[in-house]
This record gives sequence, structure tokens and C-alpha cells, in this order.
Amino acid sequence: MTPKLAEVDSLTIHAIVNDEIDQISPSPHPAVKHPQSFMGAPLKPLPAGTQRGGASLQMRMDSLCCGAHGLSLLITVTRDGKSHSLLFDAGPEEAVWERNVTRLDLDPSAIERIVLSHWHRDHSGGILSAVRMIEAAKKNSDSGDAQKVVVDLHPDRPDFRGVMAHEPISLEPDPSFAEIEEAGAAVFTSDEVHTALDDTFLISGSIPRRTSYEGGIRGGIRFTPEGKWEKDELIMDERLVMCNLKGRGLVVFTGCSHAGVVNVARHAIELGGGVPFYTLVGGYHLADGTLEKLEKSMQDLKALKPQVLMPGHCTGWRFKVAIEKEMPGCMAPIFGGTKYELI
Ligand SMILES: [Zn+2]
Ligand SMILES: [Zn+2]
Repeated sequence: MTPKLAEVDSLTIHAIVNDEIDQISPSPHPAVKHPQSFMGAPLKPLPAGTQRGGASLQMRMDSLCCGAHGLSLLITVTRDGKSHSLLFDAGPEEAVWERNVTRLDLDPSAIERIVLSHWHRDHSGGILSAVRMIEAAKKNSDSGDAQKVVVDLHPDRPDFRGVMAHEPISLEPDPSFAEIEEAGAAVFTSDEVHTALDDTFLISGSIPRRTSYEGGIRGGIRFTPEGKWEKDELIMDERLVMCNLKGRGLVVFTGCSHAGVVNVARHAIELGGGVPFYTLVGGYHLADGTLEKLEKSMQDLKALKPQVLMPGHCTGWRFKVAIEKEMPGCMAPIFGGTKYELI
């Protein structure tokens, strides 16, 4: 039986890592609030005694977040006055996660759980630095949770993933279960649907593949314990995360959509037990899709009647253009360093 999601009263998303950044554009959607024209950039005090015509603050370029290929979203919800924070993925590199969190002046001590969408380095690469920074921040704060941060992972971790070109191209290994524990976290593995943080978040099991045109990652391979590369295009360890936002509906988070955006959205709706589909946030992985795949994805996604679409990471500019054309006013793309409030 599918566990039931509790309704949350508010939801914010802080994009810690995303491929693109945009500090300037205004929000294109009335239900998504975010700063524009650099107003989200942390300001730094000028040294005491500085004479600069009354200015006491400066906006430094080294306070702005950096873009990187990958995704890391800090999701904060409140329910009956209590808040919960979950980190969805951790970007491609430890240095990127650390740099962006530091530049954004974020306090990682509130993060209770890290959920990895799937075993691919552009989502897992920052996990160890996230765990270390969360645990260090908790030690420095009075309100810090005594419990270790939980890292929620699919149990089927390949030794390596890669892509078959003229020869196998290997990615770096994802952090191992042992490394994550050594960094200070408690590892939780599951390949089944479950809820977390007082039922405010639902984490799926494997996402069923039903459409004919969403075939995973072309040329995807994994390194087996027998020392061979084998075909692994479907990335069946991929999971979605979702919340039920009061008065709105399902807020669905997708890491890289190797399952296909339509399969992801349909599965979320199935798991949602009648709650309307509100938005899909994250990587739609259509950057390198064929035109036919883009068109079919658009048609089928539109039929599910999302109220907002929040593409980022591997979505690609062509699909974002297609959304704006086919569903004008529906899109609020995500950018690194920006905090989004769903209102
Ligand atoms: Zn991936
Ligand atoms: Zn990705």
C-alpha cells in the first residue's frame, strides 16, 4: 500500500546547484515568488570606516552562486508551524556544493535528510561535503539535531557508471555507503516507496517505464562486479520525491528524468492518490532528445495539466522554448542560487 503524504502549509526550494544561473530575470509565474535583479544575492558589510557615500554594504561577485552540471535542491516545508528540510541531490562535486552553500550564507544544520535521486555523479558528487558541512553546522548551533543526517539511497549502487562511445567512458565512482557513513551520516537504503520527515515527503521506488518513447540514457553502461561493462540505459534506481502542498497539489521533484518526464509525472500522480498534479521541478533530460521525443513528451505532459512547470538541470533550452510556446505562462524555470517560494 502506498504510504500517505501529509499536506504541508508552505514549501520553498533553494537551488544550491543547477547548470544555469540567472540572478536577473523576474518570476514569470504569479504562484512562484523569487528575487530578481540581484536582490537575492547576499550582501557583505564594507569594512568599518569605509567612506563610500553612505554605502555600508556591497554586493560582491564572489558571493554569487556558480553554475555546474548537476542538481542540488534544498526543499523546506512547514506543517502546523514545524519545518522540515530535505536536500534532494548534492550536485557534481564536493567543492561546488561547499562553495555555493558558503556563498549563499546557508545554514546547513537544518537539513535532516539527503535523498539521492539516482546513482550518477552529477547528483551524488557533493554528498560527502554536504554531510560534513551539515554535521559541522549542527555541532556549532545550539538548536542542532542530535540525530545524524540520514542519507536515503537506492541500494543498487553500481561500482561505476558510464557511456559507451568508441570505447567505454567511465564516470567517477559515486560516494560509497561506507564513505557516506564515515563522513558522519546514517545510511538508509530503500527501493520501495516510503515517506520521511513526519510524512511531509514521499520518496518513490522504481519508476515504471510505460511510454514507448522514453528509453533512458542512450549508450548507458555500468561496471559489474565481474569486471565487465554491461548495458544499463534505463537507470532503474532512479526515484522521485514529492510533497502535497495545501491548496495546490503535488509538487514533484525529479533529478534527471532518465525514466522520462511523462513516466515520472504519471507515476507521481498514481502515488498521489487523487491529489491534483501541481508542478514538476528538476531535470527533464530532454537536452539531447530527438524532436519526436520532445513533441511526444510535450503532448503527454500537457495532457496531465500541471499548473506550473519548473525545469532545470538537463532539460535543455529547446524543451523550455517548447513549454513557453505550447503552455504559455506555465513555466517558472529554476536557476542555481535562487530561492523559490511556492505561494
Ligand atoms: Zn543521471
Ligand atoms: Zn543529471
